[in-house]
Amino acid sequence: MSGLQVLISGASVAGPALAFFLARAGAKVTIVEKAPSLRTGGQNVDIRGVGLKVVRRMGLEAAVLNRATQEEGVAFVDASNRRRAEFPVDPTGQNLSMTAEIEIMRGDLAKLFYDATCDDVKYVFGNSIESMVETDEKVNVLFKHGLKQQFDLVFAADGLGSPTRALIFGHDKQKSPIKSLGQYVAWFTIPRQESDGRWARWYNAPGRRLILLRPDTKAEASQQITRASLWICSDSARLQGYSKLSIAEQKAVMHDLFVDAGWEASRVLAGMDSADDFYMQEVAQVKMDECWSRGRMAVLGDAAYCPSPISGMGTTVAVVGAYLLAGEIARSPNDPLAAFASYERLMRPFVTKAQKLIPGAPQLANPETAWGIWLMYSILGIVSWTTRLQAFLGRFAGPPVDAIVLPDYEAELSGNR
Ligand SMILES: Cc1cc2nc3c(=O)[nH]c(=O)nc-3n(C[C@H](O)[C@H](O)[C@H](O)COP(=O)(O)OP(=O)(O)OC[C@H]3O[C@@H](n4cnc5c(N)ncnc54)[C@H](O)[C@@H]3O)c2cc1C
Repeated sequence: MSGLQVLISGASVAGPALAFFLARAGAKVTIVEKAPSLRTGGQNVDIRGVGLKVVRRMGLEAAVLNRATQEEGVAFVDASNRRRAEFPVDPTGQNLSMTAEIEIMRGDLAKLFYDATCDDVKYVFGNSIESMVETDEKVNVLFKHGLKQQFDLVFAADGLGSPTRALIFGHDKQKSPIKSLGQYVAWFTIPRQESDGRWARWYNAPGRRLILLRPDTKAEASQQITRASLWICSDSARLQGYSKLSIAEQKAVMHDLFVDAGWEASRVLAGMDSADDFYMQEVAQVKMDECWSRGRMAVLGDAAYCPSPISGMGTTVAVVGAYLLAGEIARSPNDPLAAFASYERLMRPFVTKAQKLIPGAPQLANPETAWGIWLMYSILGIVSWTTRLQAFLGRFAGPPVDAIVLPDYEAELSGNR
């Protein structure tokens, strides 16, 4: 596949992972990213089971382990910051734990993938695809800033709301594959304070609101930051229109919705107002009825099959999809249709399992009333003290982290080495 010209839209996790394997096999890869520089925001993402195997095949396992968060667990706290239930990290993987065995800050993972690819892959920040026309041999791409260029293959790895997916499949609002779960989340960093410790703290407020503070134990000591997120289940029109708002307007909406949440809300909101890494997203899944490719163009990662942040599987699914897609292209470099069909045949069953959520999620973990929160914390308090019950629940509650056997593409993907 030497010399194959490839364009990928999105420089987060799925895009650079695909670029890594394609460049290693000899392709000439360009990644276009809308943001002016690499986005380093977000909280912990989990890399589990087969996801870690892919990272190992990238030669990045040690680097990921070195950057793993070392969060000690998740504590449910009430408005007085009293711990009502605690779930420590479980290194055995047997018990119910809310911190996966390997968690890394999303920004750290994106940076690792970027560093591993930037010598072999051309990154173009602050630009995006405006339009595409496919011919028999190529895809003619017009970029937002006016440049026109031809590519052999184009991939959409630009997340849940993927504008490139819409260009490929001609989706309008009615045909959108985004299935909302009725929840919205904003991620950002705030100044760290002593009470943040090494545990994540989970605080529910009435009105299906959640504030989650997670320590960034690997951040430079001088940075002194804590990763904050605000979650709210609501069908408010202001939230539904979030993607049309500026960052300042999105912050204002979240501010209004959380101003009376109690606990450490005022400190978190003050931090949010001055955060420069604020990122807001609908909690949703992407379920495409049609296939994941059209001609010489295909989708991957959240753009194709987002399982939602509450599944804990988004990053694992993204890196596994990138590996399979690259491997199948390397096996059939002159037949993209066959490569894309194999990628989808291998990946679909895994995605179906990864997208299965606990019934009632996310509303179940975000009660409407103070009484509902009291009840949930009481139940969690009992569970957290009962090791056997945790082990029992852990057998059912864990995501399907090994529900796919990875093909060995070593021969095909080592073309450039
Ligand atoms: C800033 C940020 C913070 C996140 N924080 C968390 C978190 O705390 N917990 C969690 O579970 N998941 C988080 N996610 C989502 C998580 O990264 C994904 O679920 C998963 O890793 C799969 O990644 P992806 O590369 O498919 O998509 P994403 O990570 O969503 O990345 C998509 C990329 O495409 C870029 N993009 C968007 N539109 C265009 C365009 N028109 N042209 C070019 N580029 C475009 C975006 O800027 C982004 O860099 C976050 C995503 C982002 C972008």
